[in-house]
This record gives sequence, C-alpha cells and structure tokens, in this order.
Amino acid sequence: MLLKMDNLPGYFVNSCRELRNAKELDEWMNTLPIDGLLMMRLMEHLKYGVNHYGCDRDMELTGRFLQLNLPEDKKEVMDWLIDQGIACDCDAFAFVSKLASMAHNQLRVHNNAL
Ligand SMILES: [Zn+2]
Repeated sequence: MLLKMDNLPGYFVNSCRELRNAKELDEWMNTLPIDGLLMMRLMEHLKYGVNHYGCDRDMELTGRFLQLNLPEDKKEVMDWLIDQGIACDCDAFAFVSKLASMAHNQLRVHNNAL
C-alpha cells in the first residue's frame, strides 16, 4: 500500500523536517573548533566548577579543561569563545550549554532516524 503524505503519522513528518534542520545543524557544528561530545563534557565541567568555586570573572576553568582535553586546539577554542563575546567561565557555561543542547538534540534526531 502506498502511503500518501497526509496519511503519514505526524511524528514522521516532523522528524523529516527536523532531519533536514539537523543536517544543516550538523554542517554548522562541523565548522566549530570543538566537537559536540567534548562540548557536553566542557559544559559539565563548567557547571560543576562554577557551582563549587564560583566565577572569578576570568576563563580559568575553561582554560584548564581545554589544556587537559584539547591541548593542541586550546588557543583556537579560547579565541573562538572570546570572538563569541565570552569573557568568563559563567559566560562560557551559558554559551556551551546552549550549543551542547543543540548537539544533544541533533544526536537524538539522528538516533530516531536509524
Ligand atoms: Zn562569570
């Protein structure tokens, strides 16, 4: 039986639309100097760090994470964050949370598509 477009369940139509957006998002994410998984880990690190030690109005916690996890690209990522208007660890937390949740949605949409 051939399914007509208006016979398709809503979630299927939605996931196709999301998938197209996810592809665009995917391409955009690939232009970022840090991948989605590492971004989520940076977010967890900053969440813990800012909660426990507070923000010193510098990027000490962000810098330390990058030094440990992405030493070769540390400068590139720091410069990129500064270009996004990030001036301290709590700014960085807000920013990467937003990006990480986009990356997370993207992964979820990809899993649904399999
Ligand atoms: Zn701050």
